[in-house]
Amino acid sequence: MIVGAGPAGCSAAIHARSAGLSVRIIDRAGFPRDKTCGDGLTTVALRELSALGVQPASVPSWRSIAGVRITSPSGRVAHLDVPTDGTLYIATAPRRELDEQLLIAARNAGAETSLGTTVTDIVRRGDGWLVSCDGSGESVEAAYVIHAGGARGLPAFKTGHPRPATAGRDELIASRVYLDNTLDLDDRIHIWFYNDILPGYAWIFPSGKNTANVGVALHTANRSPSDLVAETERVLESDWLVGLVGDSVTRRGALRSWPIPIRPQPDLADGGLFRLGDAAGLCDPMTGEGIAQALTSGRLAMESIRRNIDRPESATSAYHKALRAQFTADYRTSRILLRLLRSSRWTRGAVRFMGVSPRISQWFARWMFEEVPRRAVLSPIAFARSLETPHGASFSDEDNPPSA
Ligand SMILES: Cc1cc2nc3c(=O)[nH]c(=O)nc-3n(C[C@H](O)[C@H](O)[C@H](O)COP(=O)(O)OP(=O)(O)OC[C@H]3O[C@@H](n4cnc5c(N)ncnc54)[C@H](O)[C@@H]3O)c2cc1C
Repeated sequence: MIVGAGPAGCSAAIHARSAGLSVRIIDRAGFPRDKTCGDGLTTVALRELSALGVQPASVPSWRSIAGVRITSPSGRVAHLDVPTDGTLYIATAPRRELDEQLLIAARNAGAETSLGTTVTDIVRRGDGWLVSCDGSGESVEAAYVIHAGGARGLPAFKTGHPRPATAGRDELIASRVYLDNTLDLDDRIHIWFYNDILPGYAWIFPSGKNTANVGVALHTANRSPSDLVAETERVLESDWLVGLVGDSVTRRGALRSWPIPIRPQPDLADGGLFRLGDAAGLCDPMTGEGIAQALTSGRLAMESIRRNIDRPESATSAYHKALRAQFTADYRTSRILLRLLRSSRWTRGAVRFMGVSPRISQWFARWMFEEVPRRAVLSPIAFARSLETPHGASFSDEDNPPSA
């Protein structure tokens, strides 16, 4: 039983089917549905999508991205381009389209789906779990429950696990709006670190043709969540944005905000109840990216369950161990870098260094978006070694779309 048909839930479903397990996904939304997101896909996300059988050509507004332009608080721009070796390092895909393809892939793999159904409660029942849903009043018993309900899925008390107090702690929140009629963004994504929101940032990601996904990510340690909309409006009026997208843009839909959970939950898994993706708090504390983590946690959860199918407690500890091995060291590094990014001086210095030479720029592009461990940046030799072999994600040739 899987709660949530986002990247985490669909990844878990497809991996479950590959292991021969029967699975049902329940989602409160009807699909296609939007998810407030920047729509950016890192190399890890692309690799996971490729393994799940989701092809770029099936996502109409897919954009393959050639590089990143980072603007520092002083206005200096670092141009970070990814290698041109025929593989894919970065892409954008509107979540409305991407998540629909993930759901189709899950159904094609044999997963059952119940859409428009909200899970209201998950309680222990004997050796397994009882999952209650609204509307139909239906209840389902399952030995394993995957909670992939995102940042605001089930309230914690509904799963019997109190959440740690977060008041006063650093959280990440972000807003997003789509702009149509933009100038051609030239297959580059744009990031702007400006003083008032550090270590947060603003972004412009090309999305389809002459459309951009624009947003702001704020850390609540130094700014109030209520500042987010005002900061986003400020970015939308800024010379930085107008210089890139032009002054004839129109907004599509409303500006939306949503939390980005950057604190791994203490109860990642317990007796057959597994938290994945945003429900587990797995987003990167520095960048806020979470799609790769959602897809990866779906795979890791299912590998842990497949190996221990009749031993939920062993599956639980295998999942904890796998998540720790995958993410813990990198999250620590992200948190260190986050502290440094609070300083305008340090951020300006970092952007200047990234642009020192084309080789260094390419290293940083790959460090930010590829499978290079975040912690590699703390050791120059490890950093250089980890980047010796470039390898982006590959999809089958006939399905690789030309760069938009
Ligand atoms: C503004 C913003 C920008 C972002 N930009 C990026 C980016 O560019 N790149 C990146 O990698 N990450 C980004 N993220 C993070 C990313 O969106 C999430 O990490 C990712 O969506 C997590 O996937 P998930 O499957 O865990 O959860 P979700 O995608 O949130 O899916 C959860 C699903 O569960 C369903 N659900 C919830 N509660 C229930 C219930 N009670 N019953 C039934 N169904 C339920 C929901 O309808 C939803 O379909 C961004 C986040 C925000 C807020």
